[in-house]
Amino acid sequence: MADKFDVIVIGAGPGGYVSAIRAAQMGLKAAVVEKWISEDGKPVFGGTCLNVGCIPSKALLEASHKFVEAKHDFDGMGIQAGDVSMDVKKMMARKDTIVKNLTGGVAGLLKGNGVTAIQGTGKVVSSKQVEVTDQDGKATTYDADNIVVAAGSVPVEIPPTPLVDGMVVNSTGALEFQETPKRLGVIGAGIIGLELGSVWNRLGSEVTVLEAMDDFLPMVDGAIAKETQKLLKKQGLDIKLGARVTGSEVKGEEVVVKYTDAKGEQEVTFDKLIVCVGRKPYTEGVIAEGVGIETDQRGFIQVDDQCRTSVPSVYAIGDCVRGPMLAHKASEEGVMVADIIAGHKAEMNYDAIPNVIYTFPEVAWVGLTEQEAKAKGIEVKTGSFPFAASGRAMANNATEGQAKIIADAETDRVLGMHIVGQHAGEMVAQGVIALEFGSSAEDLALTCYAHPTMSEAVHEAALAVEGHAIHMVNRKKK
Ligand code: FAD
Ligand code: AMP
Repeated sequence: MADKFDVIVIGAGPGGYVSAIRAAQMGLKAAVVEKWISEDGKPVFGGTCLNVGCIPSKALLEASHKFVEAKHDFDGMGIQAGDVSMDVKKMMARKDTIVKNLTGGVAGLLKGNGVTAIQGTGKVVSSKQVEVTDQDGKATTYDADNIVVAAGSVPVEIPPTPLVDGMVVNSTGALEFQETPKRLGVIGAGIIGLELGSVWNRLGSEVTVLEAMDDFLPMVDGAIAKETQKLLKKQGLDIKLGARVTGSEVKGEEVVVKYTDAKGEQEVTFDKLIVCVGRKPYTEGVIAEGVGIETDQRGFIQVDDQCRTSVPSVYAIGDCVRGPMLAHKASEEGVMVADIIAGHKAEMNYDAIPNVIYTFPEVAWVGLTEQEAKAKGIEVKTGSFPFAASGRAMANNATEGQAKIIADAETDRVLGMHIVGQHAGEMVAQGVIALEFGSSAEDLALTCYAHPTMSEAVHEAALAVEGHAIHMVNRKKK
């Protein structure tokens, strides 16, 4: 007879492993099932985020940014570094070490918190039972009072660009190139496409990004998106909007890509092609027929605001349910359901989830854009401050970008914060806290910020909402 648990979590990504740890911390007997195994047959924890997502991409973004700084910016600071070159294989090995350390760390955390790790593929077979099939095909059924499905997501594939080993790759393949391609095509100017395009552009690839939509980063405030597009273009990314890819063919060592734009049919040749057209939930086969849990047409498991499925003892979290596909959203949902299972009241504020694009400079935002607020009929006032006017930004050699705050014109309540600038991903936490606490722009304006910091731009943007920024001549306010 297999063990019985208070909670079994299926999937050990940032949604699942966090949920299992929280459940154990709440005194529940918790297990997590993970199907991912290493080449030497050991379970791999951390899911997409740690293995082929957030962490490896950031390792490559940081290394490639430092390379660019060393090559182009050091001299201006008086640093004579000589001829700078990049050893791509070594950069990749460093990334692999970081991934190994972190995934090993999760194994340690699970053990240290008393979570039982079960290797195998989990399937919800009834409202209180999970069947796990191990790598040898042996199936074991575990009983659980509660089940959390955290099966995550996988890259979307599109018929015009079938993957071809090492030549036409998805985001996972793009994290594995062992040398810098000369001509690189990226399909999709979303977060992942821009990050991966940036890595290889910095290392010397001629990068062309083909994006079907006419708008660049429509989820970001218009002014910030426009400035980001300009900055990325200046760095050499050739971003073609309104360019829908319709076909691709590998011819010897080259990939010929066909796309349509306003001028008609176009063709372009690359050495490698990265397909970054989004991700889809990885839910096929995770729930047995007859359990009564619905998935929508795209495969997302249907849940309510607290991640409950239609079966009371089964929850689903992270990338396999509605909402932004982000690691921190998955983790917060994991904590919420563990707390609910433990008998506590818990909820999430889906209006205050930060987003970051780790290009240089970073793009980060939370809450509404000016355009979204207006479309909702809300009268807004905004304040912006350019990093060009920040002393710290000058010292940091990072004067590009701006911080913008969108506030309700009537109540002064902060509705959104959108930033493009160095460390924007760290600065946006202030916007998240402002939204969580229901702060007014004046609250931020009356707060004392350390000098000199990049965050002072947020302070000045808050002051600018009323036309009172100190280090800038303010636009006339009504
Ligand atoms: P996943 O991380 O996908 O984990 C799901 C786990 O479940 C996997 O380990 C899978 O093997 C396992 N599993 C699935 N089915 C079963 C089953 N039947 N039985 C057992 N195990 C199963 N997000 C950010 O917030 N910040 C970033 O900077 C960022 N960068 C990214 C960069 C890239 C290149 C990519 C691809 C993604 C990035 N993301 C980022 C997104 C982030 O990785 C995901 O949002 C996050 O991993 C979702 O967590 P999850 O736990 O829901 O799913
Ligand atoms: P995201 O969902 O943020 O990862 O972004 C994926 C991007 O890929 C979106 O902006 C889509 O418009 C874009 N996309 C999807 N299919 C195509 C295609 N055939 N050609 C060009 N861009 C595409």
